[in-house]
Amino acid sequence: MREFLDLSFAEVAALMASWGEPPFRAPQIWKWAWRHLGTAFADMTDLPRDLRARLGEAFTLAGPVPIAHQGDGEGTEKVLLSLRDRQAIEAVLIREDDRRTVCISTQVGCPGGCPFCATGKMGYVRDLTAGEIAAQVLHFARELRGAGERVTHVVVMGMGEPLLNYDATLQALRNLNDRRGFALGARRVTVSTVGVVPGIVRLAGEGLQVNLAVSLHAPDDALRRELVPLAERWPLADVLAAADRYASATGRRVSYEYVLLRGVNDRLDHARDLARLLRGRLAHVNLIPFNPAPGLPYEPPEPNTVDAFRRELVLHGVDATVRRSRGVAIQAGCGQLRGQRTEGALKQPS
Ligand code: SF4
Repeated sequence: MREFLDLSFAEVAALMASWGEPPFRAPQIWKWAWRHLGTAFADMTDLPRDLRARLGEAFTLAGPVPIAHQGDGEGTEKVLLSLRDRQAIEAVLIREDDRRTVCISTQVGCPGGCPFCATGKMGYVRDLTAGEIAAQVLHFARELRGAGERVTHVVVMGMGEPLLNYDATLQALRNLNDRRGFALGARRVTVSTVGVVPGIVRLAGEGLQVNLAVSLHAPDDALRRELVPLAERWPLADVLAAADRYASATGRRVSYEYVLLRGVNDRLDHARDLARLLRGRLAHVNLIPFNPAPGLPYEPPEPNTVDAFRRELVLHGVDATVRRSRGVAIQAGCGQLRGQRTEGALKQPS
């Protein structure tokens, strides 16, 4: 049985035509799935009974099953979702002022292997399908709907490297963006990559106004290769050229992510080298003090080191902010997702 959320609108329309259904059926079903957030064809009461039955025989709408929820008491929640092959992924909801941001995963594990990242330590298991990616957003959208709220932003920064699962990630974002259904504005979406150059170049040509975040983590290739093994394939000069191309194709400012690791990449000369790389570009640096996770051999710098690093960037002409990771206490911060139950009290889904 196929997952209905894997289909694009065009595929739904072609399917309905092949079943001899009138043209209005595709938008009708799409709206049930993507706007009303339906989980069963049987609930689509304005469809003929035999069509509901036929859809139910061919597809499932149920999506991944939440097996654990955990909240930090400050508005951040993490959900552990079980997939049909019993693999598990995590997604995070961050409530901040009037923003409701969902951070989603694109792979089970990650082939990136970055040594400061809990997901990287898991190794790579498999790519998620478009439906499995989008279902993480729909999960939290259903939860928020109970409080009269909706998902306002999506960041593709969870488990996995999205541009190494390009087609499914793009399909999920296009489906979420589709005005006939979920209608999430592309400018409210941020795709984060460690610098998969062919993916950045492709994304620049999609005509989608999503934000791009490029994780640098080091100001030179030698250190970057230690922290980001994929940098062996794509050196900094190529990554920056691709990001420039993205900025000029979309007019969007690229953000550069830099995780600060004590004694590794947090010196003032690192900040000056980073400023030299980025000065004059349509760029913004997000500094992320390392979030400790079990088994990772790094420490975050002292707060005054983080401040000094940021000031040095600004002094040398590069816009920078320190990003306070949310949900660190429940292992939901950047680089902490593992697709496993986190120790401590877990609230079972209701
Ligand atoms: S930082 Fe990103 S690319 Fe690196 S291992 Fe973690 S999820 Fe993969």
